[in-house]
Amino acid sequence: MLKRKMIKNFTWPLKTATQEIEVTRLYPEVMMELPAAERGIHELNATICIGCGSCARVCPNSCIEMVHFKFGNPLKNKKMQFPQIDYGRCMFCGLCVDECPVECLKMGQRVTMAGWERKDIIKGPDFLATKRFSSKEVADLEAEAKRIAAEKKRIADAKKAAEKEGAAKEGAAKKPAKEGAAANGAAKKKAAAAEAKPKEGGAA
Ligand code: SF4
Ligand code: SF4
Repeated sequence: MLKRKMIKNFTWPLKTATQEIEVTRLYPEVMMELPAAERGIHELNATICIGCGSCARVCPNSCIEMVHFKFGNPLKNKKMQFPQIDYGRCMFCGLCVDECPVECLKMGQRVTMAGWERKDIIKGPDFLATKRFSSKEVADLEAEAKRIAAEKKRIADAKKAAEKEGAAKEGAAKKPAKEGAAANGAAKKKAAAAEAKPKEGGAA
C-alpha cells in the first residue's frame, strides 16, 4: 500500500510536467471569470454623481464617508463630495447601489483589495471612479458654473431693483392723493366754520 502511494507521488508530478494538466489557478496574474451578478468593489461614475450622500445614509454598516474629489461635475455636485468605502466593514449588500438616485454607483467585478494596513482597504473616489472628468473638463465646468451663478445674481438684482422702483412709484402716487384729501378736509372745515359764524352773530 505504502509502496503504491510512493509510486503515485513520483508519477503524478511527472504526468503534470509532461501533459498540460491544470493543477492550480495562476492567481493573481490570471483571474477566474466571475459571474455577471458578482458583487465586487463598487464602481463610481463620478461624472454624474450629485454628492447627495444617500448611499452613506442607507449603508447599514456605516462604511461610506463622503469625501472631496476634484474630478466630478461642479454643476451637478456643488460640494464635489463623493463616497469613500471602508471595505473592512462592507458586506456587499448592494443597498447603497439601490438607493443611488442617479444610478452612478454599481457593484463591480474587481475583487482584489488586499493591503498591508487597515487603511489600505478604505477605498476613496479616486480608486472607485471608473468614469471621471479630466482637469481641463473640470475647469471648463467650473467656469460655466460661475457664469450661471453670475447670471442668476444679475437677474435677482434686476428683480430687486424693479421691485424697489415699483414701490417708490406707488408711494409717490399715494402722496398727492393724501395731500388732496387733507386739503379737501381743511376746506370743508373752513366752510362749516363760515356757515356757523352768521348764526352766532344773529343770536348776539
Ligand atoms: S454594499 Fe452594503 S455594506 Fe457595502 S457600502 Fe454598500 S450599503 Fe454599505
Ligand atoms: S453615489 Fe449616488 S447616492 Fe452616493 S452620493 Fe453619489 S449620487 Fe448620491
